[in-house]
Amino acid sequence: MYPAREIEKKWQSFWQEIELFKTPKNPKRKFYLLEMFPYPSGDLHMGHLRNYVMGDVVWRYLRMKGYDLLHPFGWDAFGLPAEEAAIKRGESPKKWTMNNISVSKNTLKLMGLSYDWDREVTTCNPDYYRWTQWLFLKLYEHGLAYRKEAYVNWCPGCQTVLANEQVIGGKCWRCDSPVRKKALTQWFIKITEYAERLLKDIDKLEGWPERVKTLQRNWIGKSEGAEIDFEVEGMDLKLSVFTTRPDTLFGVTFITIAPEHPVVEKLIRGTKNEKKIREYIEQALLLTEIERTRMDREKTGIRTGRYAIHPFTGERIEIWIGDYVLVSYGTGIVMGVPAHDQRDFEFAKKHGIPIKVVIRPPDRDLNPEIMEEAYEEEGIMINSGIFSGLPSREGIKEITKYMEAKGIGRKKVTYRLRDWLVSRQRYWGAPIPMIHCERCGIVPVPYEDLPVLLPPEEKVDFTPRGKPPLASVPEFINTTCPKCGGPAKRDPDTMDTFVDSAWYHIRYLDPKNEKEPVRRSEANKWFPIDLYIGGIEHATGHLIYFRFITK
Ligand SMILES: [Zn+2]
Ligand SMILES: [Zn+2]
Repeated sequence: MYPAREIEKKWQSFWQEIELFKTPKNPKRKFYLLEMFPYPSGDLHMGHLRNYVMGDVVWRYLRMKGYDLLHPFGWDAFGLPAEEAAIKRGESPKKWTMNNISVSKNTLKLMGLSYDWDREVTTCNPDYYRWTQWLFLKLYEHGLAYRKEAYVNWCPGCQTVLANEQVIGGKCWRCDSPVRKKALTQWFIKITEYAERLLKDIDKLEGWPERVKTLQRNWIGKSEGAEIDFEVEGMDLKLSVFTTRPDTLFGVTFITIAPEHPVVEKLIRGTKNEKKIREYIEQALLLTEIERTRMDREKTGIRTGRYAIHPFTGERIEIWIGDYVLVSYGTGIVMGVPAHDQRDFEFAKKHGIPIKVVIRPPDRDLNPEIMEEAYEEEGIMINSGIFSGLPSREGIKEITKYMEAKGIGRKKVTYRLRDWLVSRQRYWGAPIPMIHCERCGIVPVPYEDLPVLLPPEEKVDFTPRGKPPLASVPEFINTTCPKCGGPAKRDPDTMDTFVDSAWYHIRYLDPKNEKEPVRRSEANKWFPIDLYIGGIEHATGHLIYFRFITK
């Protein structure tokens, strides 16, 4: 039998003595070997070790081949579970986290893994989150961080905001109250500004698995099409829809608006069905966006009783509100073309909406009376005024051109990718370094005042009271405005932990630097990462943010 205790101990202390895992200062054949850092929620489990042992094997192999390696480790240490421990058991989030880190670190050391512990990074330490805040200020400075209203899951029982994972079947995981949606003004990062670059540069990623690249392409979800304006009958109001199929424009028989679209209020106020519509909207917003847009789910909707005017034919077109439309995709309004979209077809059949054929297959005619499914392919345009007879692909261009000339529509590219909502109504995260002054508005914390420290836990009441915990800590929330010197308030929210993990790989290069996040010289030495080991589940979240932050 292998006497692990003795042999491991002997060699591990020898490795330590000769500083085997220390990163060379001036690498000749550099190799940056990185594994995704863990969230310290207890001790490590086999899933973690699987990742780390892979890294260790690579390190040892390359080391023997003569490479100079950087192989760091750290902790994604902010996050919800620490705060839950505080709420449920009155534990200190910091103590809970630090304790988990020390247990996990001990396990890693027992495994004899080849990490350079001198470069350890812990995201909940002020010497780290100071630079996370710095990064936020930089994004703000460049117009990439902005505030906007967004819906959050709200539990009226617990008086708190819930993460999507905490809403189970529309109810609060903790107290079973039905969850509602509530509009809150929050910070977003304008990742969509980089959608095209993030997409194009996927082709430049060397060594990335095809599967990850495909996931990212789909996540960014580029679609080219047109935006078309519809006037609303009897109102001074225009509805712009986005479609990838402007060639089917003459087949539009209804329009559907996302339930949370700001225009809905204007449309339904004072209408006969207002109460029913509001009930529908309330219900619709209980579902997550994923549930709402699932392909196998039946589209639901409700008539507003209002009509739009077809920009070419002048026909009256019913305006609906439907949960399958998302406000964040395209314009949040879509046109319904039952003859040429299967789900619109089913929707029309169910609600008695007319079906109008405007694309004919090259070899036959379609009769809307007896059609059993939509015809979604290309074909020849019919019943389309001056565009009849054109192949549909050409029709897309011609109709768009015509609309642009008339000012009723335009060519448009949209992405499925959304801006990144980073505000969290939580304590255990990096405070958002912004100040709200009654006189000056939003004022960023000056760089030299960073970090904005979390107040000591003793001062914080973790019992949910309908506002973020930091809002109830006077020592934290009350401050002076850096601009006018008057009384002001700090932003009470903390940042999504994905902001912390979006740049940790950069900090490893220069973890003790107190003047800047990283020295350029160190970055030049070690970047790019030569091998990154982690789970496929991070293909779209972390790995998109991680790419974005260096753009
Ligand atoms: Zn609750
Ligand atoms: Zn001020």
